[in-house]
Amino acid sequence: MKTIATDLDGTLFKGETLIDGVREAILELRENNIEIYFTTNNSSQSPSEIREKLVSLLNLEIDINKIITPLIIFKDQISKKLNNIYIYGSDELKKYIETLNVKIVNLSISDAILIGRKEINNEIEIKNIISQVQNGKQIYCLNKDLTYPTEYGEQPGNGAVVKIIEDELSINIQSLGKSGEMYPSYFKINNITINFVIGDRVDTDIIFSKYLNATSFLVSSGVDNYLDKSLADYQLTNFSDIVPLVVENS
Ligand SMILES: [Mg+2]
Repeated sequence: MKTIATDLDGTLFKGETLIDGVREAILELRENNIEIYFTTNNSSQSPSEIREKLVSLLNLEIDINKIITPLIIFKDQISKKLNNIYIYGSDELKKYIETLNVKIVNLSISDAILIGRKEINNEIEIKNIISQVQNGKQIYCLNKDLTYPTEYGEQPGNGAVVKIIEDELSINIQSLGKSGEMYPSYFKINNITINFVIGDRVDTDIIFSKYLNATSFLVSSGVDNYLDKSLADYQLTNFSDIVPLVVENS
């Protein structure tokens, strides 16, 4: 049996709109016994909220265990090592972290810092974080995406704040997103072999495929890429274009 890891935003849907042909393509892949993992850097929604969105857009059953987000990486690889954490991010993010029995505390007394996305960034908060990290505090970020696609165009992601901190301190913040090392290790730790990766971003999806040694497909239905698109093994228009290629190779 072959396994695909597909991206969501810009690959299966844009905002609240399913991309043409996606439902039919998923049905065809399932008919051919191809397993699908739903992978995303989106951390502003919990995995179960993402599942609900997929179920309602696709009108198909989706297994919650097949949805892998940076929050799952946090749960699996970080939450057990920490008693408490400071969160730079939304209330939804804080709520999810609390379900993992990690206490959310003030910056000064925290064991570590987690950078997520905020609707409006807070410069003073960022300065305080920089000084804590300078003094040796552990820091993680959910992803390094500078933007993310919506039906209204690209919106600023949490990568902008990550970049401010990294540039100020000349450090590399460990990312729980697809372009980091922990995300692909999830599949290795759990003995899951991913044969094909599909996504719309070279800097996340295609880099992720390289860690996994998987065949990569870049679609043009999502964001504009600033990295070389030829890093992908195949360049396609839409998700549905992978079906004949994947079925043929499985
Ligand atoms: Mg995407």
